[in-house]
Amino acid sequence: MHQLYSMEIHNFSAGPCILPPEVMQEASQAVLDFNGMGLSLIEISHRSKEFVAVMEEARSLVQSLLGLPERFDVLFLQGGASLGFLTAAYNFLPEGGSAAYVDTGTWANKAIKEAKHAGTAHVIGSSKATNYDRIPALNSVPSGSAYLHYTSNNTIFGTQFSGVPSADVPLIADMSSDIFSRKFNPEAFHMIYAGAQKNMGPAGTVMYAFDRDAVGKTGRSIPSYLDLAVHASKDSMFNTPPVFPIYVSMLTMRWMHALGGVEAMEARNQRKSNLIYQEIDRNALFEGHATMDSRSNMNATFRLKNDALGTAFDALWKEAGINGLKGHRSVGGYRASMYNALSESSVQVLVDVMKELERSH
Ligand SMILES: *Cc1c(COP(=O)(O)O)cnc(C)c1O
Repeated sequence: MHQLYSMEIHNFSAGPCILPPEVMQEASQAVLDFNGMGLSLIEISHRSKEFVAVMEEARSLVQSLLGLPERFDVLFLQGGASLGFLTAAYNFLPEGGSAAYVDTGTWANKAIKEAKHAGTAHVIGSSKATNYDRIPALNSVPSGSAYLHYTSNNTIFGTQFSGVPSADVPLIADMSSDIFSRKFNPEAFHMIYAGAQKNMGPAGTVMYAFDRDAVGKTGRSIPSYLDLAVHASKDSMFNTPPVFPIYVSMLTMRWMHALGGVEAMEARNQRKSNLIYQEIDRNALFEGHATMDSRSNMNATFRLKNDALGTAFDALWKEAGINGLKGHRSVGGYRASMYNALSESSVQVLVDVMKELERSH
């Protein structure tokens, strides 16, 4: 953990990623002795009143942080967002039906691939031709589509929808890498889902927030674990939930709530992304991957114009205590992931390193 090192580490990892130090402290204490029970959080029954309280608080914090309408249910399940791709299609794509999808990169593609297990996926926009450097313009949703699915933030390519897309059909969004990072209106959604390990907690759980009135209408027989209605009827305890990731997610949500909620996170994230993008644009040694109008506030992707400076730059940022800056292999270059828990001062350290490279070259 950060404070155990003599030098501060600036963790820009794309995921699993940085969590607030206060949350790490409290979580490690709970592993040793949870709530003064003399027992660890991870060795008590998930049906004990102590853990049921954790689950209830986690679910209600999602409701309040996102400002969800009453018709929404919240679940914390296993399988990550990758199982979420299939879960979305199984629960909302009617037997023999179709849905619209936006192809904005690796994760969006995986969602499309899984949807094909349940029906037809119409791709109504793609930025594949430009290596996913932008959010594409969208064609109209074909009539008869059950929903429009999109990936609000593209973790690998560093692009982000500027807001909720407008469509005549309900929306489903994979918000794994920008959940709780900015305000949005949940009215138009059938479902929002997010793997925990980008902005919530450790890997091992995926959060589903969905309209309970919209499930159970596909006409297909859904295997129990994939059936959101089954999980909702059991209050997210159909089987043993991943207790530790849910507990840590709950602590992170408490931390966000105490700091002023999603609105406060958004203001801070805006300041962080302004800092990094101003430097990418100002510093003649660097260029961004994403087009300006599609830039992500969570993952800034950029590269050196001259690869020969790579060794010098890598040495400088490593020396400054920066971790996790290497870009994904499908984009190359660098990626600064600036999730909620990353401080502005860490982004400033990266900017200072970029300036230092310019000064010395
Ligand atoms: C990381 C990520 C995923 C995959 O999540 P898993 O929990 O590993 O399945 C899906 N979508 C987005 C946008 C991601 O960033």
